[in-house]
Amino acid sequence: MSEIRDTVILGSGCSGLTAAIYTGRAGLQPLVLEGHEPGGQLSITTLVENFPGWPEGIQGPELIDNMKKQAARFGAEFKLAHLNKVDLSHRPIRLESSAGEILTRTLIVASGASARWLGIESEQALIGHGVSSCATCDGFFFRGKEIAVVGGGDSAMEEALFLTRFASKVTLLHRRDAFRASKIMLDRAMAHPNIELRTNTVVEEVLGVEEKEVKGLRLKDTKSGETCTLPVSGLFLGIGHEPNARMFAGQMDLDEDGYIKTVGNVITTHNGQPIPGVFASGDVQDRRYRQAITAAGTGCMAALEVEKYLEAQGH
Ligand code: NAP
Repeated sequence: MSEIRDTVILGSGCSGLTAAIYTGRAGLQPLVLEGHEPGGQLSITTLVENFPGWPEGIQGPELIDNMKKQAARFGAEFKLAHLNKVDLSHRPIRLESSAGEILTRTLIVASGASARWLGIESEQALIGHGVSSCATCDGFFFRGKEIAVVGGGDSAMEEALFLTRFASKVTLLHRRDAFRASKIMLDRAMAHPNIELRTNTVVEEVLGVEEKEVKGLRLKDTKSGETCTLPVSGLFLGIGHEPNARMFAGQMDLDEDGYIKTVGNVITTHNGQPIPGVFASGDVQDRRYRQAITAAGTGCMAALEVEKYLEAQGH
């Protein structure tokens, strides 16, 4: 019989690690399951300028590393494991993971969100061969080359600005002419001499599938319907993220885009009724704010709910 844990935290991004710091400090010896993207989105970003406490900013991976050390100091345990199956209908909760069966009294789902792709065949065929969703991971390979970034939000602006360190020219492609990006990020991108913005433009095809490397893009102007070829060696996607909550479908209420619905910030529900001992925090349940500090905030709330729940259950 496996031991029964007090709490398991699914995800090791900013939210999961904050939950681990709090539950660890409460003596609950949390087990943190690190999925396929350990450290979450902060671990693949660059300078974080708006996390309170660092007046000069802090590199995302360093911030995550600090949080992990802080959680470990309070007894959090980390396991690299993929969750295959979960049963929320019985207590203890049963998790089937690549590291074996895990039983737990409470669960914090902080599994975040993963990069979104355009979904066209040629793009999928060239992932890793010039198509990427992570500028900080792959930008280095495009030194002195011309590349394109898709998106009109802060991620796309950030990627485009970061990529100017390597690329000789960055063309930013956006499907509309209004931007979601914050003014400060948009202004920076617009002011950069090596970034060209093209609005009302969509990617119809990534060229180079036969050659197994990106040779260019076939673009379409959504207003005029005209198509043209943009010769680039790389395509970076900055078009947002998908919540990692699919494995809970049918056992937990999700919204139309697959985000976990919560009440009281972090309490999960099934058919509108709270699921005892199961909480969700961070980007997997937040389609509105999606900031590092808000993810940390809800991670803290979930941890405090876990404490209250266990106390009420007499643990
Ligand atoms: P986002 O704000 O949702 O923007 C996604 C962009 O991609 C939108 O412009 C959207 O176009 C476009 N898009 C989505 N699907 C597309 C498709 N299939 N084809 C073409 N374009 C598509 O996502 P985000 O930029 O990742 O930002 C998410 C959150 O993180 C935001 O709250 C943002 O402020 C925050 N963030 C902050 C920073 C920072 O402050 N340094 C950096 C990164 C992210 P439409 O506009 O037409 O929908």
